[in-house]
Amino acid sequence: MEESCRPGSCFPWQRSTIPSLFKIVVVLGVGHANPTDEGGLDSFAGAAYLLKQGRNPLFASHYVSSLKSLQANLIRGIETEFHREVEHFQYRVTSRTTKNTKYRFENKESSHRARSFMFLSYAAVAAATRGMSDIFICENGVLSLNIPISDARKGTRSTRHAHPLFLQYFNQFINALYGRAFSVHNPFQFWTKAQEAKFLEKSNLHSLIKDTVTCWGYPNQTLKYPNSNHCGYCIPCIVRRVSVKAAGLAAYDDQYVIDVFNLKPNAPEKYSRNIEDLIYFCQSIETFSNTELIYRYPEFVMADFGPPNGTQDRISKAISVYRKFAKELLSVADKDSTRPLYSASSPLSAIGLVPS
Ligand SMILES: [Zn+2]
Repeated sequence: MEESCRPGSCFPWQRSTIPSLFKIVVVLGVGHANPTDEGGLDSFAGAAYLLKQGRNPLFASHYVSSLKSLQANLIRGIETEFHREVEHFQYRVTSRTTKNTKYRFENKESSHRARSFMFLSYAAVAAATRGMSDIFICENGVLSLNIPISDARKGTRSTRHAHPLFLQYFNQFINALYGRAFSVHNPFQFWTKAQEAKFLEKSNLHSLIKDTVTCWGYPNQTLKYPNSNHCGYCIPCIVRRVSVKAAGLAAYDDQYVIDVFNLKPNAPEKYSRNIEDLIYFCQSIETFSNTELIYRYPEFVMADFGPPNGTQDRISKAISVYRKFAKELLSVADKDSTRPLYSASSPLSAIGLVPS
């Protein structure tokens, strides 16, 4: 942990300057994308969504590399649009050891699997210190449930950073730890990313979409490209590109280093693997009934976890979000791709289920 963030020294959230009618703290990944984190656009939309509700949030964001200034710029954009100041604190935790640090880690954890636990933990400390009760982490329904798009991605191969079961467990954990009731929410559990992009347009914030960062590979894979923060071939990049285009906002998006819909025949396999798996997965989503989908992807039943919110049949709602996304992806791929989408080797072709 950096000196500037060590416990007990200078946590900025300890001083309350704005009286909170709606006491919430928001885990804000505005422009945040550590090597395995999807965020940025979802969190930026989440910030606008909560302010539009008249809430008075405290935003918390972790940063790496140049994201600190990107995050600050996005917050300024929000303040300009909403004609008000917002509270925002930034922090950085790294497993890298620096010279003469007092807080040297004994072991290095480099998988980033615990990142959401860390983000939410910071939010919980801030909420507890301020007497806040609601904690928001904003993630679209597809990547929060994150159904494994192929058998090779089952289990720990697919991130659960904003999964409803994880959020429920975390909620129970901090309730027990602090001895009082918190509520951990994901307001976009049943939204697609395209809906979030449309919401940003409605909020007149769409011109800032290009400044949010979503890529799994940022900054390591993108630093060598001066005009882009997005590799183009990781799953979050593909989901973002498709969603922003489906929302009719491609002109406001960042550039993508690799165009997965127009790869050269000799392109490395890593560039084509994700889009091919996604296309196959989306074909399945479009083709099968709800019952068949639950049989094929039993992870859909996990959508039923979360705080009681009056939502009926969360599993059907989650499938419906996936169907919307599948339609968007296949439609954008159909328009943008120079390669055949439905290969003869597709298992869907083999059983005669390829859409005509
Ligand atoms: Zn990427």
